[in-house]
Amino acid sequence: VAHSATVSAEPRRREREVHELEPGEFANAEDSDPTLPPVRAMAADAVSPRTAERLAATVPPATVITTTADVDAAVARAEAVRETWAATPVDVRAAVLRRAAVHLEEARADLVATAVHEAGKTVPEVDPEVSEAIDFANYYAARAPDLEADPDAAFVPDGVTLVTPPWNFPVAIPTGSVLAALAAGSPVLIKPAPPTPRCVQVAMDAVHRALDDHGLPRDVVQVLLSPEGEVGRHLVTHPGVARVLLTGSIETAALFAGWRPELDVLAETSGKNALIVTPSADVDLAVADVVRAAFGHAGQKCSAASLLILVGSAGRSDRLRRQLADAVTSLAVGPATDLATVMGPLTEPASGKLLRALTTLDDGESWLVQPRRLDDEGLLWTPGVKFGVRPGSFFHLTEVFGPVLGVMRVETLDEAIALQNQVTFGLTGGIHSLDAGEIAHWLDRVDVGNAYVNRHITGAIVRRQPFGGWKASTVGPGAKAGGPHYVAQLGTWTDAPAVP
Ligand code: GLU
Repeated sequence: VAHSATVSAEPRRREREVHELEPGEFANAEDSDPTLPPVRAMAADAVSPRTAERLAATVPPATVITTTADVDAAVARAEAVRETWAATPVDVRAAVLRRAAVHLEEARADLVATAVHEAGKTVPEVDPEVSEAIDFANYYAARAPDLEADPDAAFVPDGVTLVTPPWNFPVAIPTGSVLAALAAGSPVLIKPAPPTPRCVQVAMDAVHRALDDHGLPRDVVQVLLSPEGEVGRHLVTHPGVARVLLTGSIETAALFAGWRPELDVLAETSGKNALIVTPSADVDLAVADVVRAAFGHAGQKCSAASLLILVGSAGRSDRLRRQLADAVTSLAVGPATDLATVMGPLTEPASGKLLRALTTLDDGESWLVQPRRLDDEGLLWTPGVKFGVRPGSFFHLTEVFGPVLGVMRVETLDEAIALQNQVTFGLTGGIHSLDAGEIAHWLDRVDVGNAYVNRHITGAIVRRQPFGGWKASTVGPGAKAGGPHYVAQLGTWTDAPAVP
């Protein structure tokens, strides 16, 4: 019988904690069941062309910044509410977050529809993402009182915080980042990723409503739409911006650091994640989990399984190979607006790295399943699996962020762990094994922030599996999103002034 112990840890500390969720504690992202009737009704609404038109017409407004003077004005507006927000008692800030959770739930159908149309995610992918955003709201609300719990310590929030979220989780990550900063007492400027502005506008509308409910100024959160280039750089380098919360590529993190080396950037960056399967594994479960982790949202997750490392006889198993090929070739590929679609399109045309991964084989590699391009734009691809990926090769070490899985074969678990740890990143990783000794051996040695046992390796759950990497997958203090220390790292701790 497979078990699914899921284990996580704070970056750079080698002890791991197991997080257990109290029953019924949150509207749990993982428990949201896409087969339930309300989701089916929502699905029909989400994919209807009329919904796309309605949303385009009714999306809440944002501030368009086209000049550096517009940036200065937005920062000044944030600065003007900074003290009011920092002085708002933590229980009121927490209450705002809980109201935001209620408004996010009310906006669920709109958020799902927006993400389907804008990001090309399927309904079963985005509905749990809305739940995750709600979980972030309730969880960070629960953590806010920690900031005042120690009478010998005083917490000063960072101040004006810039959130630069990714397009791959266009609802949960922007919302979680913004609400963490709000819980800490900082006003926020959020600049959506270019492909997914409306997801952010609809989610932040829920936050604005929550501020309205408490008579607090909407300027505490401003959505800024800007072209890339000089205006974006002015925003990141603006002296009024005290902190940046970035989720994106390691290249973007390096760009920001180059622009302004002294800036406090907290970043969740890239991953090159492997799932190991040992001879003791339950093959049915292992195949289902690797397919889910490799091809969910067409592989466009930093947490995605990009490598499958087969140990010993698992690497020689015809059954495993056939099951993997069958599972991958039977994924229904199509637009996210087709309810039969299991794997949707790329959100953006493939990068050079991804194109190379989809179209070329390096020495020793062969296609178990060869990807095919289905449209002119280059957004729709069938998923691919390549065998024979060699240690140290392009595919072994490079994050490609798309629907290709590479398979490596080794004789021992230690060799598998060495290949898994050889990458510069350390975000997620997994093992499928029914041998407790193997599992313990692996957990002691794998250098990843989120280590999963007998489970797919995407879809971390707020509080139960705080999400964050080690090594090159993280920049900054490094407490994990959805974990107990995330809010408390968004400010400065000093000794409390002595009570006279
Ligand atoms: N939190 C997501 C997960 O656990 C990944 C986030 C990302 O790809 O940025 O799958």
